[in-house]
Amino acid sequence: MVISVASGKGGTGKTLVATSLVLSLNDNYKIQLLDCDVEEPNANILLHLALNQSQQVYVPIPKVDEAKCNYCGKCAEVCAYNAIAVIKEKVLVFPELCHGCGACSYLCPESAITEEGREVGIVERGNSGNLELVQGRLAIGEAMAPPVIREVKKYIDPADIVIIDVPPGTSCPVVEAVEGTDFCLLVTEPTPFGLNDLSLAVEVVRKLGIPCGVVINRVGIGGEEVERYCHREGIPILLRIPLDRNIAMLYSRGTPLIEGMPRWREEFLKLFQDIKNIIAASRVAT
Ligand code: SF4
Ligand code: SF4
Repeated sequence: MVISVASGKGGTGKTLVATSLVLSLNDNYKIQLLDCDVEEPNANILLHLALNQSQQVYVPIPKVDEAKCNYCGKCAEVCAYNAIAVIKEKVLVFPELCHGCGACSYLCPESAITEEGREVGIVERGNSGNLELVQGRLAIGEAMAPPVIREVKKYIDPADIVIIDVPPGTSCPVVEAVEGTDFCLLVTEPTPFGLNDLSLAVEVVRKLGIPCGVVINRVGIGGEEVERYCHREGIPILLRIPLDRNIAMLYSRGTPLIEGMPRWREEFLKLFQDIKNIIAASRVAT
């Protein structure tokens, strides 16, 4: 079972929810946490695992042999990302725009294009008992998050319970991380910004055909708009976490919520059970 934990915007408590779920379950289940928030992976600030395995992630970019090239321009025509250009008798490659799709080398009539790897990030792994953490980390200054997320997701073990910490927002990296999961938990806060970003995230998840539910964090800072929206849209609110100075203090010290306030373990176990029920009901319905 693969559960993604997403939020339309950063700073809503997504990692707090993902790590609390993991730590509530790992006494009884073999569990993986995949930190796909590759620009700022911070789940391990709360998990404190030794990451003792790592591998580089490369994107294959084209290398043109101009001795073979006839400057026909087919490579530039086929590239959807404007990552290769043919200007008179010169072929220019823009590595930071290249998605490594391979179309240019496949379609070059002169077989003038080979590929070479460009490092865009790393995947790090560590485990302790029942718990394995796999985290992606984008190279500094790099914008190409999806290849790193894809590499992290290759470690999914379908026999385990897998929790994915999704990047914030609603763009390509979010789709890459959420796609193929059994359920998406959307973490939001009860403010107008929270509602705006939640509604965008719901659109994405619905387009992907993935059942979802909501966790409202910091209940007490805003109004009832998020509650009313979820009610209107038929989206279950599965957990409410109050605005609580003690929770914020635990997080800032790197202490997991369920260790600092053990009563939350029961809440997260109930949350997991609710998610399982929703997944089972959605499978019956399809
Ligand atoms: S498709 Fe091949 S032959 Fe044509 S311009 Fe590009 S590299 Fe050169
Ligand atoms: S590999 Fe794909 S994205 Fe990169 S230059 Fe070739 S066609 Fe463009």
